[in-house]
Amino acid sequence: MTFKIYNTLSKKLENFKPIEKGRVKMYVCGPTVYGRAHIGNLRAYIFADILRRTLEYAGYNVNHVMNITDVGHLVSDADFGEDKMQKAAKESGQTSLQIAEKWTDLFFQDIDKLNIKRANKICKATEHIKEQIDLIKKLEDKGYTYTTSDGVYFDTSKFSRYADFAKLNIKGLRAGNRISMRDKKNKTDFALWKFSKEDEKRDLEWDSPWGKGFPGWHIECSAMCIKYLGETIDIHTGGVDHIPVHHTNEIAQSECATGKKFVNYWLHSEFLLMDSNKKMSKSLRNIIDLDILGSQGIEPLAYRYLCLNSHYRKQLAYGKEVLESAVNSYSKLKKYILSLKDNGTKVIPLNKLGKSAKNYLQEFKKGIFNDLNTPQGLATMWVMIKDDKLSQEEKYTLAIDFDNVLALGIKGMKKEIIDIPNKIMDLFKRRNEARLTKNWGESDRLRDELDSKGFIISDTPKDSKISYKD
Ligand code: AMP
Ligand code: ZN
Repeated sequence: MTFKIYNTLSKKLENFKPIEKGRVKMYVCGPTVYGRAHIGNLRAYIFADILRRTLEYAGYNVNHVMNITDVGHLVSDADFGEDKMQKAAKESGQTSLQIAEKWTDLFFQDIDKLNIKRANKICKATEHIKEQIDLIKKLEDKGYTYTTSDGVYFDTSKFSRYADFAKLNIKGLRAGNRISMRDKKNKTDFALWKFSKEDEKRDLEWDSPWGKGFPGWHIECSAMCIKYLGETIDIHTGGVDHIPVHHTNEIAQSECATGKKFVNYWLHSEFLLMDSNKKMSKSLRNIIDLDILGSQGIEPLAYRYLCLNSHYRKQLAYGKEVLESAVNSYSKLKKYILSLKDNGTKVIPLNKLGKSAKNYLQEFKKGIFNDLNTPQGLATMWVMIKDDKLSQEEKYTLAIDFDNVLALGIKGMKKEIIDIPNKIMDLFKRRNEARLTKNWGESDRLRDELDSKGFIISDTPKDSKISYKD
């Protein structure tokens, strides 16, 4: 079956064909570790994980590389303002490296909870300064750079295809006054190396042929991608916000340095939106992280389910309804799988499946091999579960097979996972107290709250019981 993916480069759905038969070189733009990843950020890594798992499901061997940005990402994605790492360090009284270590650890704890496979190679910007300097030197030798009082810049007017990737309106950018020029030659020019300011105390700075300073944000991805995967790779991912600046700049500097096409397929995931359809972001202070979800009794894999239920190229508006629906569906799935496990249902080899079961296998592939249509994949799973023509063994086998891509933890589901979360038990206790003290208003309100979270309370004259809704 062909695997179709939407390529930002051609703005079309294309049949995926790797450079080397059976192998995929995939680079994922990683997190800037200056704070806790929010669930919007995590959506981008769930998408990259689905992509990797689908490639593996299709039989490819995937070499997955991800960077950690621990220097150089400035407060504005352009090249001015403070370094996000330095700013966080200053605010907390710690060093940038301490900050990076803390948030990197938490990032990996979060992605583990979401069943996101770790990259084969995880590389930090601060550990690849030499590679970044070497790449800048190459660009300098070829005449693509110039130096200002502030740093070494890439001259975008020397790369004629600069605007193509993001369909940038360069004339519009020139006419408008949205981008600060300082002493840059063109508004789209970007920093490859920034000089440390005399009056600024940085805890991250290095010597370079141009003076003491630190690398610009974009150069790290080109340098590490080329180092670990080569000058031309198959797939590069990121969020849609990376298209006009970060990835446009990565293409310019990589292709000018090597003279080769940098990436064959560029894939971008859409935003998670908060109330009033604003992007979830630290700067808008509208963020939610996995701990906040946990405090509401929502487990990480229910959030993964929520993401899978929407296509990665569609914006996803986060809200009470979508959340409740995902929590309910996920707990139904768990109940069903646990009932199969309780009955001692066994997995059978895929070639022993009957014709109807095999059709579901094809249906599932049709969905996910069509630009990672996970909502269709989930829908196929539910129709399959409800199909009386299939045996329990077949259903269990298919669910486990689909979970190679969906990664909802089906194989490892255990009784304790469906134990009622502590936060829910706290609400239930408060509801019992309200009932005992005949505070009927509060008691009803708490019952409704539990109901909205997928739990049902049954009262008897003696006591009350709580359970998952069917
Ligand atoms: P950062 O750590 O800021 O470099 O961002 C990490 C990833 O999160 C990038 O791929 C961004 O595109 C992505 N991202 C940031 N905000 C959102 C959001 N609200 N929804 C989805 N992805 C996001
Ligand atoms: Zn990047």
